Amino acid sequence: PRDPAQAQDEIELAVEGALRPASLAEFVGQHKVRAQMQLLLEAAAMQDRPADHILLSGPPGLGKTTLAMIVAHESGRPLRLSSGPAIQHAGDLAALLSSLTPGEVLFIDEIHRMARSAEEMLYLAMEDFRIDIMVGKGAGATSIPLDLAPFTLVGATTRAGLLPNPLRDRFGFTAHLEYYEPDELEKVVERSATMLGVGVPAHARAEIARRSRGTPRIANRLLRRVRDYALVHGGADRASTGPRGGPTATQADVNAALELYDVDRIGLDRLDRAVLDALVHRFRGGPVGLSTLAVSVGEEGETIESVVEPYLVRIGFMGRTPRGRIATPDAYAHLGARHPESVLG
Ligand code: ATP
Repeated sequence: PRDPAQAQDEIELAVEGALRPASLAEFVGQHKVRAQMQLLLEAAAMQDRPADHILLSGPPGLGKTTLAMIVAHESGRPLRLSSGPAIQHAGDLAALLSSLTPGEVLFIDEIHRMARSAEEMLYLAMEDFRIDIMVGKGAGATSIPLDLAPFTLVGATTRAGLLPNPLRDRFGFTAHLEYYEPDELEKVVERSATMLGVGVPAHARAEIARRSRGTPRIANRLLRRVRDYALVHGGADRASTGPRGGPTATQADVNAALELYDVDRIGLDRLDRAVLDALVHRFRGGPVGLSTLAVSVGEEGETIESVVEPYLVRIGFMGRTPRGRIATPDAYAHLGARHPESVLG
């Protein structure tokens, strides 16, 4: 039976695939990471060997899968996609590793969710391109060494801190992806708009960029909804004025489309606001533990920690203290609530 999570991943890859940059030169932003990766790939190419293993960390949608694809594409090697949740036993990993062709790039998304027993197998595989396969049980059990074709592992994780040190240490290069600046997201939107055949004037582009939570995947998603809106509500006179006979969107289309999809004026979505709302109103600004906060909005702790919290911290709405999460005065202001200190003062 096929793993439904994997099937879903494949659908998402196909939908996003069309807008995915295929080379480092087309990849927007992340200048430092790009330069570091360029050097790594060039040196490997000069010596005709697979590049060192690469660990990419950072919140979802910042381009980890895209970079893995670029590593394979730029080094002219095939790419194999897998993910931590799909590797539940050492045997799953053994099957995967032993089927790699020489020089293949193996991408493991959410590598922090791989089974422990597989992690240990991976240490040896990364270092020596070798695994030991256990056969039999009890006193008669033996291990059979198996040589692997050399490969490049690209691991992705939203939570680098969850990886055991021995695993982290075996990556030759570790990159942390940061949220994108609005001007970088404008470039992402500009590039995608051309590919999707929708005209987006500069001010509308800036508006989408500002409301994308620093995340290219979100910028692309909002752009598609804005395109839909322009198509449906733009009327016949605007329907084919964009590139490749598509519609042209106005800033009013951006505002209306994003309002329809519950994206507020600084790009927070329903879940972001639910978390802020609980923090400010139910927990009186905190401090409150992450799991309590997660339960109160009906979400997994991991989603709050890897998706919601990093951005709220980054924009200065949420703070982390040893006793838990707190709301900042800016968070109160955004919700139109009075900060307790201003009430006292
Ligand atoms: P996840 O970990 O959730 O899989 P991710 O970090 O791997 O997320 P990607 O799937 O690589 O994110 O990127 C999401 C989308 O954003 C893709 O469609 C890709 O086209 C676009 N994108 C990401 N980074 C960039 C970039 N630097 N320049 C242009 N487009 C980008």
